[in-house]
Amino acid sequence: MTRYFCLDEPEVFDLETAVVGAEPGRVLLDRSPFYPGGGGQLADRGRLQWSGGEVALTGFETLGDGIWHLLAEPVLPSGAVVAQVDRPFRQLMRELHTDLHIVNALVYQGFDGALVTGVQMNEDGTARIDFDLPEADNERLRGLEGAINDVIRQDLPVRETYVTEEEAFDEPGLIRSRSVTPPPTADGRIRVVEIAGLDRQACGGTHLAATGASRPVRILKIDNKGRHNRRLRIGLEGV
Ligand SMILES: [Zn+2]
Repeated sequence: MTRYFCLDEPEVFDLETAVVGAEPGRVLLDRSPFYPGGGGQLADRGRLQWSGGEVALTGFETLGDGIWHLLAEPVLPSGAVVAQVDRPFRQLMRELHTDLHIVNALVYQGFDGALVTGVQMNEDGTARIDFDLPEADNERLRGLEGAINDVIRQDLPVRETYVTEEEAFDEPGLIRSRSVTPPPTADGRIRVVEIAGLDRQACGGTHLAATGASRPVRILKIDNKGRHNRRLRIGLEGV
C-alpha cells in the first residue's frame, strides 16, 4: 500500500505542490492530497490551479510508483500548482467509510465474527456492505440502526496506527475482509483504523476524526445475495 499523503494529513485539502511529469491531459505531482480510490471508497474529486490556468480532475491512474492525475482538458500544466480536494465529496466519503466501520464492528460483534465480502460507497450518500452471513435474521440486522446512531452520537475518536504484518495476522478480528487484505506499506506495515472503545481493523481509506462528524444513518435495505451473502444498504440522512 502506498502511504498516501491524505492518510497522514486528512485535513489538508489545498496543497502547494509541483508537476514532476506531464503529458497533455495528465500529470504526476511531487505530492498529492488526493485519495485515488480503492477499498470501496470512490476516488477524490478536485482541481489543479497553476499560473497558466486551472482544470478539473477526472480520475487517477496508478502506473508503477506514480499516480497520474487525469485532467478534464488536454492541457499541459507545469511548475508550481495548487491541488484542491473537493471538500464536500471527501467529507461524504469519510462519513460513509466511518459509518461502514461502525456497521462492520456491530455485525462482527453481534453475529459471531461475520466477515465482510464486499463494500462500495456511492456519491449519492448511500453505501453497501456485504457479509458472509448465511443464517442471520434480517430483522435483527435491521435493528442495528439504533446502535449505529448511538455510536455516532457518542462521538468516539477515530485513530490510526501501523502494525507489522505479523501483528496484524496475530490479532483476532483485525483482518475483517474475507477476500482482501490491505497490502502492506513499503516498509511492511499494515494500517489499522481504530474507533476508540469499539473496533480495530486493517484499512487503507480515509475516515472521520470522530464518529460524531457523521450525519445520522438509516438502514435502507437488506438483501440476500446468494446463499451466504447478506447485503446491507445504508444512507446518510439529509443527503
Ligand atoms: Zn476504513
